[in-house]
Amino acid sequence: MNEETKGKAVRKSLTILIPEGVVAAPILKTVAGLTERYHLGLYLSTAQNLRLLDIKDEDEEAIRAALTATGAELKGPGKFPLPKICVGGTYCNLGLVDTMALSRRILAAYQGQMPVKPKFKIAISACPAACSDALLADIGIRATKAGYEVYAGGKGGPFPKVGRRIAKGADEETVVEMVGQLAAFHARKTEKKQRLTKLLDDPEFPFPEV
Ligand code: SF4
Repeated sequence: MNEETKGKAVRKSLTILIPEGVVAAPILKTVAGLTERYHLGLYLSTAQNLRLLDIKDEDEEAIRAALTATGAELKGPGKFPLPKICVGGTYCNLGLVDTMALSRRILAAYQGQMPVKPKFKIAISACPAACSDALLADIGIRATKAGYEVYAGGKGGPFPKVGRRIAKGADEETVVEMVGQLAAFHARKTEKKQRLTKLLDDPEFPFPEV
């Protein structure tokens, strides 16, 4: 926090989690109604979620209830991170795989089924161009013509780091299993929150560099 932001009142917002960045029509309709009724702003976050801005304290409960009723899931602690994905091979002619399907498979395997500690992120890219910044995610998955590569410990922010490659030529099943092992390892080794990069040199880190 610098001198300009110290003590600044931050306005209240709520974040709707949007798996694969694909918004269901009923949620969009509800959000449109809420933004008009409660004079909210809308922000499309860098993590592919939808953030409702400028929520007044007295309106929060009603807004939460309306969103929950429409099937929206709100961001909160302890939730398995939604992979940030590029649009994938179904919509990009360079794409080698269906990133949406892989994200759904990862979430089906682990969402709500394991303890998760904050600050690790997952990204999936359907070709080496890595448009979803897979090399800068705690767990990065990148499709190549020779199979999947998996990277661990990448990060963006003020001191970006490219992740360490821990798999190449992998199939989808292996990738899904590795994500689970890495998430479990991170949860076991993390007291409150930390990026995976801090654990790369832990003697028990489950995968060598390849
Ligand atoms: S990473 Fe590749 S497949 Fe994905 S959007 Fe970028 S160019 Fe297309």
